[in-house]
Amino acid sequence: MSKTGGCLCGQVRYEATTAPLMSGVCHCKNCQKQAGTAFSTLAAFQKSDVDFVGELALYQDSDTDTGNTVNRYFCGQCGSPIYSEVPGQPGMAFIKAGTLDDTDDFVAMFHCWSSKKQNWVELSPDVPAFPENPQM
Ligand SMILES: [Zn+2]
Ligand SMILES: [Zn+2]
Repeated sequence: MSKTGGCLCGQVRYEATTAPLMSGVCHCKNCQKQAGTAFSTLAAFQKSDVDFVGELALYQDSDTDTGNTVNRYFCGQCGSPIYSEVPGQPGMAFIKAGTLDDTDDFVAMFHCWSSKKQNWVELSPDVPAFPENPQM
């Protein structure tokens, strides 16, 4: 089952040859800032399973709550965030699930950084929520 997606302007496109290994929602402040909204929806793939087409710009985000540098890739033309890399999980691409062409089967398996979530956001009691990063 392949998953396709891309940025708003279409300059960046990608195709993942597998289903996501996990999917979740990050409420950290940096994700709020980068996404310009309340949280990031993330679908995690092995980076080697994803083909990217187009030019990705990189912001190396070192001002994080963990102190780790997160590589945030985005379209330099329209600004859509595309994916992030975190040092704790090398080889993984955390794709911003809003850029998937079809999100019908996206299910949040967990929430992280719920301690930073916006006040209006109500989390389902059925989905595990971690105040910071989950230990995985
Ligand atoms: Zn674009
Ligand atoms: Zn985050």
